[in-house]
Amino acid sequence: MIDDLPPLRDVIRAYELRAKKSFGQNFLLDLNLTARIARAAGDLTKTDVLEIGPGPGGLTRGLLAEGARKVLAIEKDVRCLPALKEIATAYPGRLQIISGDALDVDPLEHLTSPVKVVANLPYNVGTELLIRWMTPTNWPPFWESLTLMFQREVAERIVARPGSKAYGRLAIMVQWRADARIVLNLPPEAFTPPPKVSSAVVHITRLPAPRYPADPRILERVVAAGFNQRRKMLRASLRGQHSNIEAVLEKAGIRPTARAEEIELEAWCSLARVLQAAA
Ligand code: SAM
Repeated sequence: MIDDLPPLRDVIRAYELRAKKSFGQNFLLDLNLTARIARAAGDLTKTDVLEIGPGPGGLTRGLLAEGARKVLAIEKDVRCLPALKEIATAYPGRLQIISGDALDVDPLEHLTSPVKVVANLPYNVGTELLIRWMTPTNWPPFWESLTLMFQREVAERIVARPGSKAYGRLAIMVQWRADARIVLNLPPEAFTPPPKVSSAVVHITRLPAPRYPADPRILERVVAAGFNQRRKMLRASLRGQHSNIEAVLEKAGIRPTARAEEIELEAWCSLARVLQAAA
């Protein structure tokens, strides 16, 4: 027992929260598991936590029981609000609920630094938000860490190393400015209803500054071009980036016959710098 509130199965029954596909709802009902996910985010006692998609509140309760200073929870499905209000009453002054779509709401005015983000979100919304959180106008971003549930295959793409099939744009975008690791693997049966695939929790910690200097737009553009045709040699896939791309690649220390998936993050950044200087 992590708190005195009713078990989640009872909450779901009482408020008739039958999972809806349209909201991407696969709930975590095991409060020991949600507390474990909360612990993966590290010490929360001096931190505000932004939680997206609390649903019936399993992870929310985990975060509060683990001592989060404050949880700001944004939920799109209004059916979940009464259950969330009960949690807010049990933890006076520590849970603020916003009813709305996380893709439209700006939570920053309700949060005090330091902020950690923790969420179990539908796959498409999660990836969209991850990209936004990783590409703010200024670095460092508002968050210290992101602890997010993904389909296992997406989690593997986030932490992938060069030379693997999963290595691509997502790995480079995240690893350029953050440390990322998989902290928990979950089988479909951990959720109600069970999804078709396995899931994993990824913990991402921001770096104070990008690992290697590069202009974010040029880096994103060249990495996208390289991986859009990942089987081709770079001298072919990057032809559109510069009139003498072979010379640019060599100057960046990259073999023109190499393929995108062999190239380390440091070399991508050096390529972005050479391209910028040669523009
Ligand atoms: N966090 C809960 C848990 O772990 O049991 C629920 C997880 S369920 C996979 C995803 C939750 O995100 C649902 O409650 C759903 O209604 C909510 N959701 C879906 N799209 C959303 C959006 N765009 N903004 C905010 N919440 C969203």
